[in-house]
Amino acid sequence: MRRCPLSSWRRDISRFTITDVHPLAADGTFGPLTSVAVEDGVIVDRPGGAEVDGRGGYLLPGLIDTHVHVDHPDQLVAALRWGVTTVLDMGTPRWDGLRALRDADDDARADLRGVSSPACAPRGTAVRKMNHPASTAVRGPGDAARWIAERLDQDPDYVKIVLEEKLPFQPKPLAPDTVAALVAHAHRAGKKVVVHAASSRAYAIALDAGADVITHAPVRDTLSADLARRVTASGTAVSPTLVMMRTILRTLKLPFTPKSLNFGQTLASTGALHRAGATIVLGTDANADDTSPARVAHGSSAHEELALLVHAGLSPSEALSAATSRAAAVFGLDDRGVIAPGKRADLLLVARDPARDITATRDVVGVWKRGVAAPVPRASPTTT
Ligand SMILES: [Zn+2]
Repeated sequence: MRRCPLSSWRRDISRFTITDVHPLAADGTFGPLTSVAVEDGVIVDRPGGAEVDGRGGYLLPGLIDTHVHVDHPDQLVAALRWGVTTVLDMGTPRWDGLRALRDADDDARADLRGVSSPACAPRGTAVRKMNHPASTAVRGPGDAARWIAERLDQDPDYVKIVLEEKLPFQPKPLAPDTVAALVAHAHRAGKKVVVHAASSRAYAIALDAGADVITHAPVRDTLSADLARRVTASGTAVSPTLVMMRTILRTLKLPFTPKSLNFGQTLASTGALHRAGATIVLGTDANADDTSPARVAHGSSAHEELALLVHAGLSPSEALSAATSRAAAVFGLDDRGVIAPGKRADLLLVARDPARDITATRDVVGVWKRGVAAPVPRASPTTT
């Protein structure tokens, strides 16, 4: 157990300097020992105010989890505790509550963005099993304008489309022309589009449609080098949600165990994307939802995902960028994701060097959201 050196730190101090830290640079490496100053929630270039002894630790921008499902404000507190200062909700049937949490903009909780309900096929899992309204099903390309107009009324930050698999005895997934129409309408409305895809077939449809982000890495097959290069060429980012895919495969209860489903393929697909130069961002699919195929903890799972990204072939520095600067750039969060003057003081201080050993991110000694210190975990997660 690690004692928090900031335990006596007052939350209302608005001007302070964290001394003796190695800050993360945009390229994912840590610089020499220096000080990082904060004033009114923003990083500034002149040291001043109260001093926080960083004790030679490693200072990262707050982590950004680009795929979570929030159904209780405490989950945003848990995320913040683990240094995840921003979370992007990727689908909730209870958007009104989440929208209120987002708009409350409370520094005691992780910053929240969301999509409201995702587009899905008629009788898709979202409407059949996950309590989303029937109106979130899209009947065809001609229904895309209606769907987007209804989403815009809800003021989401992004748009999500769920592209399910073509399986025997299952409802038909969204057709490629419907996906393309949804993406076109969303882009016209200025919204980025995240597409749920868990196979090479679904990846190809998402790319043809012009998706900005694909979430999940295939579990049913391994992406070919060709398809991975297409992802790179199209500029589409991917959040592989490795921790979720691993948890699903560990907990899956099926009448039979298809050999075609295995985590090795998910890791191999992520590795192929990385070798092809695709933009990879961190996403965990953290949720506590009974209707979800598997539960994943908020906050601590981001650290598991970092380790799994390294397992898939990213260097620790690349994994750190995936969780910070790259995630911010992909989702247009221009005010955060790097440690630089003018950026939000969303910060995570850890005791050891995560560029040498990625599991060092779990050694959390300090977290600030917009310059406000948050409580930190008492113990590191033990999994992975
Ligand atoms: Zn999800």
